Amino acid sequence: MNKDLRIAFGEIHASRKSRFAKPKNMIQLTNIEKYYANKGIKNYVLRLVTTTIKQGEFVSIMGPSGAGKSTLLNIIGMLEEPTYGTYEFLGEDVTSLNERKRIELYRNHIGFVFQAYHLIDEMTVYENIEAPLLYKKVGSSERASRIADLLDRFNIVAKKDLFPNQLSGGQQQLVGIARALAAQPSIILADEPTGNLQSAQAEEIMTLFKKLNQEDGITIIQVTHSEKNAQYGNRILHIADGVVKEDVAVLS
Ligand code: ADP
Ligand code: MG
Repeated sequence: MNKDLRIAFGEIHASRKSRFAKPKNMIQLTNIEKYYANKGIKNYVLRLVTTTIKQGEFVSIMGPSGAGKSTLLNIIGMLEEPTYGTYEFLGEDVTSLNERKRIELYRNHIGFVFQAYHLIDEMTVYENIEAPLLYKKVGSSERASRIADLLDRFNIVAKKDLFPNQLSGGQQQLVGIARALAAQPSIILADEPTGNLQSAQAEEIMTLFKKLNQEDGITIIQVTHSEKNAQYGNRILHIADGVVKEDVAVLS
């Protein structure tokens, strides 16, 4: 092959490579186990969970109550440690990090959204969204601009001085999501985020998640009991008795 041709091939190859660049692995779980020992008996909550979640995915975890869904999400979110197995987050071995490093990794990358919102009752909407930014020592003008953006985007500017108990469930969850997004996470982890909501409000939250995933490229993992909610994502992990039984793509 002459040189020009080789260069041409190389160029084609290079452009193909970038066009088909594979998304990075965000989460790699390998043989994750979790058990609670009681009188010498090991009660397994998770057994040999091995899975990869790539940057940009929107994954739903489904399964019966007690299956281990929240435990799995909490391990991914670095709130709980597995008894056995390895967990790599963006190539970092989370299980071998000390607590300070793990908290730093958590604060830089992870936004949690809870079923019961977990807002602080004594703080206004504005202060709730601001709280994680104070932890991260984000400067005051940057804080103000991020919060203004989020309030605006979620149509809750008029609610900024209200307290959580003055809002509907759907509005509280919007604040919960705004708070999770304020720190500009790479991934949102949500444990039954619409579990306490009416269906219209649930739809609004799912539409928002889909937009955050598709337009802002935020990776999302949600636990849900609703087949309809799961359809907003691109993949469903079915778990039962702590084991991944099925891992299926959602056809769009
Ligand atoms: P899911 O979210 O799928 O309903 P969980 O992950 O919350 O399930 O819990 C899975 C199992 O782990 C349940 O049987 C629960 O009783 C058990 N479990 C969770 N936390 C503890 C604990 N601290 N001590 C003992 N068992 C626990
Ligand atoms: Mg649960």
